[in-house]
Amino acid sequence: MDLHHQDHFHDECGVFGVFNHAEAANLVYLGLYALQHRGQESAGIVSVDERMFLTTRGQGLVADVFRRNELDGLKGNQAIGHVRYSTSGGSSNARNRQPLVVDTAHGGMAMAHNGNLVNAVEMRRALERRGSIFQSTMDTEVIVHLTALSRRKTFAERLVEALGQVQGSYALLAMNEQCIIGARDPHGLRPLVLGRVGDGSYVFSSETCALNLIEAEFVRDVEPGEVVVIGPDGGLESFFPFPRQKRCLCIFEYIYFARPDSNIDGVNVYASRKRIGMRLAEEHPVPDADLVIPVPDSGVPAALGFAYASGIPFELGIIRNHYVGRTFIEPQQAIRHFGVKIKLNANPDMIKGKNIVLVDDSIVRGTTSRKIVKMVRAAGAKSVHLRISSPPTTHPCYYGIDTPTQSELLASSHSVEEMRTYVTADSLAFLSLEGMYAAVSGHGNGYCDACFSGRYPIPFPRHEEHPQLSLLQET
Ligand code: AMP
Ligand code: SF4
Repeated sequence: MDLHHQDHFHDECGVFGVFNHAEAANLVYLGLYALQHRGQESAGIVSVDERMFLTTRGQGLVADVFRRNELDGLKGNQAIGHVRYSTSGGSSNARNRQPLVVDTAHGGMAMAHNGNLVNAVEMRRALERRGSIFQSTMDTEVIVHLTALSRRKTFAERLVEALGQVQGSYALLAMNEQCIIGARDPHGLRPLVLGRVGDGSYVFSSETCALNLIEAEFVRDVEPGEVVVIGPDGGLESFFPFPRQKRCLCIFEYIYFARPDSNIDGVNVYASRKRIGMRLAEEHPVPDADLVIPVPDSGVPAALGFAYASGIPFELGIIRNHYVGRTFIEPQQAIRHFGVKIKLNANPDMIKGKNIVLVDDSIVRGTTSRKIVKMVRAAGAKSVHLRISSPPTTHPCYYGIDTPTQSELLASSHSVEEMRTYVTADSLAFLSLEGMYAAVSGHGNGYCDACFSGRYPIPFPRHEEHPQLSLLQET
């Protein structure tokens, strides 16, 4: 059975929330704009005005989902928002848009979640046996139901009880009519930061780049396992209600996913990508190359680092058409193939007769790299040396980054030499795991690298599907 597409709905997402600001929904709208790279399929904002929950959600980019009158309708001084991308069959249906809003015995509640629960299927079955009726196929709804069922006194206590029963990754925003709660899973897999804007208004965001846009001050990262409650009087309370776990921030945020101008857990993403490129040049030099060319946009910072460290000139030999969405958001293989061509164009004047170092961040299925290598060669390159600024992606992600099943990952069944043949490059090399850590933060502690190593920090229940799964010892 194809686990990824049938049984397991997971998303790449971004979340943003504002508490105690007259323009709460407008700020969330801007915040979601800055987080658009984290999800392009749907967007939504929920605000609270005089105990009423007001909602706008829709399919498409932030710019398309919210019209002026809809934004004006999102009144109130607290709001949370969400951008989402998912591939899984059926999950693009309208009921799967976030934030989720429900009425409970304790009043209204809204929730926005970035991440993926590994025990969602079991929890959902258990809840359904108890009579819960699910509206969507999203993992998040499990947390919503568990919170609604809790008999604890406060909203925060009910949410904590719910989160105590789920396993997996989350950067979560939950809102009732009095407060917004930001929570990060005990491993800290997905990022979440806290900011302040104006006089006593608080902001939660998946990434710091969205704080910069609304001129909010960065306060700090929400810590792994931390639950931060803001409200009802604008005060901030912080709890660590769960057993301490090994910190496992997703290393792939630095490689590809986060925006380069964000800082995650104190490390600037752009700077780390440049260092990664420098390290790549040291590990896998191409002495006779004439030019270093990035695959835009994902390969640009690493290519700059490669050029800087090797002394080989950097040129933008491939131009990206910015009016085409990411190839990856096209759900069909047939469209993906087509997508690469409309999106990227090689510049023959720049490339003809040259030995080219082509830099990209990762090889997933290999289709993108193959197309681009062929395109660069067709533009007249004498040789094409592909350098990848991460180790081979051998394992799928179960914690909220969309990757295909293991069998579709080129590196899961091909050696580097076989991959080189497939992508038709003259040479192919990947950054080492140690090199990646050295370049990101100088140490290998505190990261998840399961998609490169197979060491999954949170056990995934369906081991029979993945016999090679090896589990990290939790300390
Ligand atoms: P592929 O053609 O499947 O090998 O895709 C590789 C390209 O997809 C690289 O250029 C990456 O920048 C990009 N990529 C890697 N992982 C993801 C992801 N999870 N979501 C979207 N794009 C990705
Ligand atoms: Fe990130 Fe890879 Fe771990 Fe997923 S498996 S959380 S993409 S490092």
